[in-house]
Amino acid sequence: MRFEFSAEDEAFRLEVQAFFAAHLPREMARRFAIGAHPPERADVRAFQALLHARGWGAPHWPVEWGGTGWSPLRKHIFMEELYNADGLDYGWQGLHMVAPVLIAFGSEAQKKRFLPPMLSGDEFWAQGFSEPNAGSDLANLKTQAVLEGDEWVVNGQKIWTSDAMMSEWGFFLVRTDSTAKPQRGISFLLIRMDTPGLTVRPIVSIEGGTGLNEVFLENVRVPAENLVGEAGMGWTYAKYLLEKERTTSAFLYFNKRELEKAREIAQAQKIGGVPLIDTPAFAHKLARAEVDVMALEFSVLRILSGEATQNLNAVVSALKLRGSALQQRVTDLQVEALGLHALRSWGHGEGEASDSPEALRWPAFVPGRTAAALIARASTIYGGSQEVQKNIIAKLAFGL
Ligand SMILES: Cc1cc2nc3c(=O)[nH]c(=O)nc-3n(C[C@H](O)[C@H](O)[C@H](O)COP(=O)(O)OP(=O)(O)OC[C@H]3O[C@@H](n4cnc5c(N)ncnc54)[C@H](O)[C@@H]3O)c2cc1C
Repeated sequence: MRFEFSAEDEAFRLEVQAFFAAHLPREMARRFAIGAHPPERADVRAFQALLHARGWGAPHWPVEWGGTGWSPLRKHIFMEELYNADGLDYGWQGLHMVAPVLIAFGSEAQKKRFLPPMLSGDEFWAQGFSEPNAGSDLANLKTQAVLEGDEWVVNGQKIWTSDAMMSEWGFFLVRTDSTAKPQRGISFLLIRMDTPGLTVRPIVSIEGGTGLNEVFLENVRVPAENLVGEAGMGWTYAKYLLEKERTTSAFLYFNKRELEKAREIAQAQKIGGVPLIDTPAFAHKLARAEVDVMALEFSVLRILSGEATQNLNAVVSALKLRGSALQQRVTDLQVEALGLHALRSWGHGEGEASDSPEALRWPAFVPGRTAAALIARASTIYGGSQEVQKNIIAKLAFGL
């Protein structure tokens, strides 16, 4: 396997670097680097509008809907540079999850209505799948939708709904037939988040973030035309969506950038006058993480280049398994390198403001690291837990 970037690819990389250097405001990049969860709503919108104005709002979409038509390698270069510039990779529920479903299974009217405002950053989306008793066992979901005339009437509860408080729309899995087999009775419904009867309550996460929510639905009336595809086919669409989600769940670009920051912190921090990076124990841990991130990168590149084609479901599970565990290792390394400074966690929740004089005294890579390490605990849960990924791999390995 050989990966070589052509002269055109290298020129493209410079073009992307120049774009971010010229257009991404430094203060905004600093706020993104702190990694507050959720980021400020105005920033999320402004950043998406910035990419959209350049025609880069959704590189992975088909060109007819505003995608770029880039090769997988170009998309890879773009994402690397977006992360290197401390840009924001956010709004996944819209751009990466519901959009591919709408493009594949939605009506023309739905595509025309929903894709353009998603691309421009005017409308954001939340994913209403999980329920208190339906996470890994999603087919057990109980939220019910009953057709009354030309409206669905929805009752039930969702949980862990990321960004529900800042989204205009949500895509929900609802049970429309309780007599069918569990998977057959599920439908995929688009619901405005300000519909009467829908209540969003925040869940404060471990690092003080307020991006997670409970969503309660009480006699929420939804126009029949907001059903995607056919009633009872929601499970098929959700599987399609989750496969899309996992492909991007290697967290490669995050891991590469944060590893670099761990190195910067370890160069700056000294023990008895010796930079931490020169102490054998820390250098060893850093090198191990670096080798594993490199291996992850080559696995991702093998998929992007079309070399890995067999058993993709299990391959993608392996990426999620490794990528999410690495996210925790790399952010833990940062905390270890920060030592006592890690006790301060700027920029998340109730902590000291990210632009306070004390926070600004530090290099940009310092504030927010502890909070990032804490919220990274969730990466081995969302998008399918470690055990669920291992089950998928084991099924293939042992022919179960
Ligand atoms: C930060 C965060 C953001 C999220 N955002 C969203 C969102 O936007 N929208 C949304 O719908 N959901 C979201 N989720 C929910 C997420 O998808 C679920 O948490 C996840 O699917 C696990 O489900 P659960 O929490 O019900 O745990 P459970 O399924 O109850 O699992 C509990 C434990 O049992 C293990 N387990 C479960 N089944 C098996 C099995 N068959 N074999 C072996 N072990 C098993 C799990 O690995 C886990 O350790 C989010 C979660 C987090 C943490």
